[in-house]
Amino acid sequence: NPQLTGNFQTFMGWADQYRRLKVRTNADTPRDTRQALEFGAEGIGLCRTEHMFFDDTRIPVVRQMIISRTIEQRKKALDKLLPMQRQDFKEIFEAMGEKPVTVRLLDPPLHEFLPHEEEDIRSLAKSMEVSYQQIKEVVNDLKEFNPMLGHRGCRLAVTYPEIYQMQVQAIIEAAVELKKEKAIEIIPEIMVPLIGEVKELQYIKDIILKTIEEIIEKSGVEIKYLIGTMIEVPRAAITADEIAKEAEFFSFGTNDLTQMTYGFSRDDAGVFIKEYLEKNILEKDPFQRIDRNGVGKLMEIAVELGKKIRPDIKLGICGEHGGEPNSVEFCHLLNLDYVSCSPFRVPIAKLAAAQAAIKASK
Ligand code: PEP
Ligand code: MG
Repeated sequence: NPQLTGNFQTFMGWADQYRRLKVRTNADTPRDTRQALEFGAEGIGLCRTEHMFFDDTRIPVVRQMIISRTIEQRKKALDKLLPMQRQDFKEIFEAMGEKPVTVRLLDPPLHEFLPHEEEDIRSLAKSMEVSYQQIKEVVNDLKEFNPMLGHRGCRLAVTYPEIYQMQVQAIIEAAVELKKEKAIEIIPEIMVPLIGEVKELQYIKDIILKTIEEIIEKSGVEIKYLIGTMIEVPRAAITADEIAKEAEFFSFGTNDLTQMTYGFSRDDAGVFIKEYLEKNILEKDPFQRIDRNGVGKLMEIAVELGKKIRPDIKLGICGEHGGEPNSVEFCHLLNLDYVSCSPFRVPIAKLAAAQAAIKASK
């Protein structure tokens, strides 16, 4: 039974009295959201929107959009996705009540959206009324040797701005509808992934703001919102003062930050990390626990620089480390506002946050 009942609930209540850090969850579906709430989550720190695009009914449309060479064609495909995306956000926002929800705009490694099977390419060619060869050529152009360091996150939004336009429209319209229909006041936190240079954020923020203004004006409903960024590229951490001029919040994406700080592929490092641990080259797996001499230092730099420009900047973490007790202690000491972790780790993070506060007070 995932619900916190009886003694466990009492115990968690004690932890709540001592901790300063808020504990949010990483949740992408209404089901995850409800489960996380049962575990005591105080908001969503990361709603990844990638999976929403992989649904069987959506992926053919997503592929059409990626392959399309004209803005009109892309917009046509995105128009089909818009009502589904709006419904996704509406359900998640409603499930969370008025607790904060951070929605991260799309961040897929692009190859996951490309058709690879002959059959998929053929059916795409048919639906787009172009030749098999034409599709094949575009797919070849978009293929990458190293997708995790390639055309993903905000880079995809610079080349395909219509995607974020559609997502922001869906987020704000969902908030408008909930306010009108159920008097639920949502303050969406819109998060841009993989920023490494403030101009990327300026370019994208401009698009986000225009989109929001249009919807608010059209609907006549006032919606508050925040725009922020992940800090997951080392360059973002060391230029956090510049980035803070444009971002109302930072969320540390320590999965990518670890990958890029060590230069270890997060998908492939398991094998050699095991040997590194056995041979004492590494004390801990840096993907599991924040490495205070590496990623931790970058986080310290980012917090200091960010606060210099924007003293009230909201700070959180949404990488896997957000549910690991030693890392939670580090986040407490760094004065973050919240950690965000998978639903099942919420009670662990809450306990760790309380223990960190007690230890620090001693
Ligand atoms: C991260 O990089 O830490 C993060 C939370 O984003 P993702 O794991 O989706 O890349
Ligand atoms: Mg990431």
